[in-house]
Amino acid sequence: AKEMGRNTYSFFTPEMNSRAQERHTLEVALHKALEKKHFLLHYQPIVDPHTQTVVSTEALVRWNDPEKGLISPEKFIPAAEDTGLIVPMGEWILRQACADAAHWQQEEGLNVGVSVNLSSRQFMRSDIYGLVKDVLKESGLPASKLTLEITESLLVEDENEILKTLRKLRDLGVLLSIDDFGTGYSSLSYLKRFPITTLKIDRSFICDILSDNEDAALTQAILSMAKSMNLKVVAEGVENAGQAEYLKERQCDLIQGFYYSKPLALEDLLLSLKQKKLS
Ligand code: C2E
Ligand code: CA
Ligand code: CA
Ligand code: CA
Repeated sequence: AKEMGRNTYSFFTPEMNSRAQERHTLEVALHKALEKKHFLLHYQPIVDPHTQTVVSTEALVRWNDPEKGLISPEKFIPAAEDTGLIVPMGEWILRQACADAAHWQQEEGLNVGVSVNLSSRQFMRSDIYGLVKDVLKESGLPASKLTLEITESLLVEDENEILKTLRKLRDLGVLLSIDDFGTGYSSLSYLKRFPITTLKIDRSFICDILSDNEDAALTQAILSMAKSMNLKVVAEGVENAGQAEYLKERQCDLIQGFYYSKPLALEDLLLSLKQKKLS
């Protein structure tokens, strides 16, 4: 395989070659960062606008490079997915997120859940069910406090296998959320077949709900469909009071966005949650 790789280089134009080299450099750096535990999780509160309480959080990974500082997941998740590194990285993310959430539940008395992003690759290339089961047991986090965020693209892969895995995960009691809902596949029939509990309306729809009639119509259609199918809805990317109010009036269950809070380091999250509990 190495030989093949070397041969294919000769077909690259100089520009492609340097891009391939950049990718390779990134891959090596990611490997090292994983070994040295240079990743950390930030947590963004997910709020019930009707009670103004934080119900859950989304775990969002950052790469803390000693020289470059915090690097956004958008810069390295795609490479981690391409190289398969997302499997060990995702395992670490799930373990850490569940351990942190078990801690704030049990030690801090905060009844707040956690949502973890899963890449399709983690479903295709690893025993995700076994992992989730182990991690729940080892952390002591109640299954109902864990939400797994998947994307629509997963649901068109090897359908039967994915369906079986998702059913087993639901049977454990974990919640299953469709991330970036509305941006992927056009067929909605999968909502009937897969044991989904939650839809996350993509930020791109929320951004202009107050000014764009089409975005408003789509958001309302998602909300009313979700209600009749007994699905919870999280609106993400809510940045101002107007958007939050609009969504609350239309019975949106949960809101996530800079309006309530940006993603926070664990200790800042805990401070913020404890302050809210007191007031
Ligand atoms: P996502 O899952 O859609 O996560 C939401 C992103 O929106 C986060 O970006 C968050 O910081 C950002 N965001 C939240 N509220 C607002 C808002 O009000 N306005 C705006 N403009 N942005 C907001 P982040 O943390 O940079 O993550 C980007 C993407 O990287 C995530 O999108 C997700 O696809 C991926 N990602 C992050 N963490 C993980 C992870 O642990 N595993 C995997 N597989 N992917 C991850
Ligand atoms: Ca997400
Ligand atoms: Ca999203
Ligand atoms: Ca439009």
